[in-house]
Amino acid sequence: MLIRKLFKFENAHIVRHCSTRRCSENIHGHSYKVEVVLSSNYLDNGQMVYDFGLTKLYIKELIDSFDHGITLWSGDDTAYLEAMKAHSSRWVELPVSPSAEQFARVIYLMVERVLSCTQMQNGEREVELHSIVVHETDTGYAEAFKEDAHSELMGKIDLNKIRFSPQVRSEWSDSELWAKLLAGEPIKMPSKV
Ligand SMILES: [Zn+2]
Repeated sequence: MLIRKLFKFENAHIVRHCSTRRCSENIHGHSYKVEVVLSSNYLDNGQMVYDFGLTKLYIKELIDSFDHGITLWSGDDTAYLEAMKAHSSRWVELPVSPSAEQFARVIYLMVERVLSCTQMQNGEREVELHSIVVHETDTGYAEAFKEDAHSELMGKIDLNKIRFSPQVRSEWSDSELWAKLLAGEPIKMPSKV
């Protein structure tokens, strides 16, 4: 069975080297919608695949890191990166360009990380991340599956190279959340949220 949780955020970017000059040469924003699609062949004690309430913790916090911020590509011009960081407190720097496709792959890896570190508390079994769908506009989206997120053909994404600004981290429930997830520290989900 598949279940889907929708998240939204407002974010700015430039997509270098894309075919459209408006996108590749101008800072602009989108109202993103992100669908997190989970699957399982089992139901938990509440007869659910995964209680949506649990996604409001770390999955929401990580996705919300992008809200009202700018997403930067570490391969961009150094002067641009420095200027953006100097004049905006909420930024996320990725080792890949922030196209909808790469957003879908990056967010897949982030959510996968949360799930793999999560100690389930309510009988959830074999909850898998089916896909991440990123809607950049009302008419276009990118959907990443596991094989896309880990694809070497599309370029491996090194999670260690994702950087969240100090203000973003300060708004998490634990400012070391990302470091802990990267270290594979187990996250205990509360039995009640
Ligand atoms: Zn755009």
